[in-house]
Amino acid sequence: MERAYEKLIRYAKVHTKSDENSTATPSTAIQFDLAKLLEKELREMGASDVVLTDTCDVYAKIPATKGMEKKAKVGFIAHVDTSPDFSGKNVKPILHENYDGKDIVLPLCNRVISVSDFPALKEKVGKTILTASGDTLLGSDDKAGIAEIMVLCERLLNEDIPHGTVCVAFTPDEEVGRGTESFDIGQFGADFAYTLDGGAVGEVVSENFNAASASVTVHGVNVHPGSAKDIMVNACLVAMELNALLPAGAIPAKTTGYEGFFHLNGMEGNVEQAKLHYILRDHDLKKLREKEKVFRSAVAAINGRYGAGTVEAKIKEGYRNMREELDKHPEVVEAAMRATEKLGITPITTPIRGGTDGANLTNAGLPCPNLGTGSAGFHGPMEHSVVEDMDLCVEVLLGILKETM
Ligand SMILES: [Zn+2]
Repeated sequence: MERAYEKLIRYAKVHTKSDENSTATPSTAIQFDLAKLLEKELREMGASDVVLTDTCDVYAKIPATKGMEKKAKVGFIAHVDTSPDFSGKNVKPILHENYDGKDIVLPLCNRVISVSDFPALKEKVGKTILTASGDTLLGSDDKAGIAEIMVLCERLLNEDIPHGTVCVAFTPDEEVGRGTESFDIGQFGADFAYTLDGGAVGEVVSENFNAASASVTVHGVNVHPGSAKDIMVNACLVAMELNALLPAGAIPAKTTGYEGFFHLNGMEGNVEQAKLHYILRDHDLKKLREKEKVFRSAVAAINGRYGAGTVEAKIKEGYRNMREELDKHPEVVEAAMRATEKLGITPITTPIRGGTDGANLTNAGLPCPNLGTGSAGFHGPMEHSVVEDMDLCVEVLLGILKETM
């Protein structure tokens, strides 16, 4: 039977980059290449209800063992696409055996995975590290998760392990924020689930940001600069005044942990008109609402200075923290914590400073925390997975099944 890292090496070689500028579903047709392979492998190993939809979602079930049909149906989810941020084509995985605790030099593009950037590597001495070659990402995010779920399925079908129904799903377009767009919770069939889309083995994450965004248009008054006194309103300068009214310390570069932020992630303009785009984030919904209030007050202050309608701002709500919903089903997170602890690993529960597909699913009624995959350095050439930790992640999944019976 293949180990998880061996599957990851195979899946990493299938190019599945998603595209944030595409409106197609899935955003890139190449994601079907891996989805079809997974569909085939699930059928060959004997999974039931194997379906590949025309939206590139793969669903399958591992039937309950005898007498376990009434037990909780546990789901596991991972995504097939890799980040548009870096090349994922022609990935050449390399195994670094018996790791010596030093920087890992990649053969191409003078790239080095340094211990100072990834201090967790210090604890991996003697283990085997899987990397790409320097010119591409590896695709651990999220093919490590896929590999671990596939090993789990094989083991449940081939070994004598009592378990309830296990539901698995592989989805497209997580990296472009569209991973749950066509996800069918009913067809998936689980009572609760886990996304395997995190970092280190032992990660059990049940908190993420609440999100909102603000699209701002500033209307200026343009006249010849030589005769502009008391007439010209320069939209770009007004935009800068607006930004100056937001708390200077509440930006991504100055916040961590549970601290939220205002992030100006785009602007363009001229004297006539300026457009700005912000994202607002906070783990605490009340604090996100306060940030929205601060934003609206800043807009009102500018309109007070320059006249009503100078600044228009549209605030749009985004994803929600899954914490509140997961607190209603504490057993889901607790099972993952116990399964992790029983392997001698201290669970890592650091809140995500972003969103997950699990957050959307949780808030749509399917409780779904996120688990680590034994990987790090996502979305770039430093991405790596620890071979032995991937095996441990499979043990965590088996432990969860035991804990939830
Ligand atoms: Zn991911």
